[in-house]
Amino acid sequence: MSLIIFIIGLLFGSFYNVCIYRISEGKSVVWPASHCPKCQAKLKPWENIPIVSFVFLRGKCGHCKSNISFQYPVIEFITGVMFLSVYFKYDFTFDFYKTVILLSIVLIAVVIDIKKMILPDRLTLGMIVVGLILSLFPSNMVDPWSSFMGAALFAFPFFLVYTFSEAIYGKEVFGFGDVKFAAGIGAFLGYIDFHMLYMYFLYTFILGAIYAIIAIKLGKKGRQTQIPFAPFMAVALVIVIIQFF
Ligand SMILES: [Zn+2]
Repeated sequence: MSLIIFIIGLLFGSFYNVCIYRISEGKSVVWPASHCPKCQAKLKPWENIPIVSFVFLRGKCGHCKSNISFQYPVIEFITGVMFLSVYFKYDFTFDFYKTVILLSIVLIAVVIDIKKMILPDRLTLGMIVVGLILSLFPSNMVDPWSSFMGAALFAFPFFLVYTFSEAIYGKEVFGFGDVKFAAGIGAFLGYIDFHMLYMYFLYTFILGAIYAIIAIKLGKKGRQTQIPFAPFMAVALVIVIIQFF
């Protein structure tokens, strides 16, 4: 069973790669069929097998021989591991589907944020809406009120930092997309108690601060450079899920 779940995860990961590419280009996610981003050649079924095709094609497009990004097999693998981990934690309960949906959207958003420094509304507002819809299911521990409060309370600290960072530091620490992203995470997790909310916020900023210190020490980023913030929010989310759910 574990192997099947992992393979299903790889297949979903393959689709998420398509989502990452198309959402960041503002294109339709479901149409047309998979094609090489360089030469536009349509992929044959055997060229579309997660990880396996990448290895056999030695990371090159079968038509134009241009290099395929390492992002493709990496995202597939991460998605496989994610599906498997969530399955081990929840078995096939409602929490399995809910957590997989949440972490899938978060993964797609994080990669787009790293590549393009944007968090598209399609993902962040989509998360809020899906989180609220899922709260209507009786098997969800999070009821609609908790989901709504979660969205508001998770977004609030980020909204404060977003609003006041410019006045205090003379620059924005992150964009408004990150505030909406936090609201989406809150809509899924719901408001459980203050402790969880506080820990989530703490983890995010500790991770962000560690990254900033390392980046400045290595001389890679100046103090004025904006950094993608979604990756820290995503890692903090994973820690909170392990710790509290
Ligand atoms: Zn090609």
